[in-house]
Amino acid sequence: MSKYLIIAGLLSIIFVLIYTRVRPYLKLIQKVVNSLNVATDVNASTPARQKSSSKSKLVRCDRCGTWIPAERSLTLNSGLATFCSPECMAKKPASKERKIAG
Ligand SMILES: [Zn+2]
Repeated sequence: MSKYLIIAGLLSIIFVLIYTRVRPYLKLIQKVVNSLNVATDVNASTPARQKSSSKSKLVRCDRCGTWIPAERSLTLNSGLATFCSPECMAKKPASKERKIAG
């Protein structure tokens, strides 16, 4: 078993040595490949790209910390405070001295 470990170690060292030698060439090849990819990307349209839609924006309830869609949220003082429900809006904070981080 120890033989295999030694061989593996040697192989890894050799691999690292070769890799450091070949690395500049690999980078060059990568550059060429990337440029080719860009060229093909322009021709082929990619509809699979995910676009972040602003409609499904989530906001956090200031009282209970629940994440809800911005459309369904209740806001006070023009968005300074956000609540998930009228109950949360009416509730008082649990601790009087509440440290606000940030
Ligand atoms: Zn809430």
